[in-house]
Amino acid sequence: MDPAPLYRAVRDVPDFPKPGILFKDIMPLLADAACFRLAIDGFVEICRALPGGPPTKIVGIDARGFLFGAAVAYALGVGVVPVRKKGKLPGRTESHAYTLEYGEAVVEMQADALAPGERVVVIDDLLATGGTAGAALELIRKLGGKPLAVLFLIELEFLRGRAKLGDTPVTALLNYP
Ligand code: AMP
Repeated sequence: MDPAPLYRAVRDVPDFPKPGILFKDIMPLLADAACFRLAIDGFVEICRALPGGPPTKIVGIDARGFLFGAAVAYALGVGVVPVRKKGKLPGRTESHAYTLEYGEAVVEMQADALAPGERVVVIDDLLATGGTAGAALELIRKLGGKPLAVLFLIELEFLRGRAKLGDTPVTALLNYP
């Protein structure tokens, strides 16, 4: 896959949502049919090439991870499960708290979302510090799932987020050193 059109479709927004942050705006990429297809096909190809075969569930992370996760799950013919911010999911849930730059965040999954030993791939739009994806991996393990890989559209390599993801293989379609 030639990622050049995808790089061109990501818009840099300085000082959003606060001063000093260079925000990677992926909305132009999502809105472009060819780019969206290229990104989804890229994720699907990685999933199909996993040792032992493709996953049986895709876990998408709130909120932009849902956009990619759902399309990849559809293409693979498997189900999709959300990791959501606290308080959004009904019924029995598992939760995991993690540290942000300032303060704490909590993410949740429905307790019955995964079958024991289920092969799971996690998808999100962007790997920054790795806190959110790390929390998703913890939740998947609490539910008895087996994380095979974590996939991102974008990795901000200079933030070293993959160090928080342990042994689980991490792949990004676009890398910013
Ligand atoms: P983290 O837990 O630090 O890896 O942050 C992950 C989440 O924050 C991702 O799901 C992104 O949606 C969002 N995020 C963090 N930094 C950026 C950035 N520079 N541009 C766009 N989104 C970001």
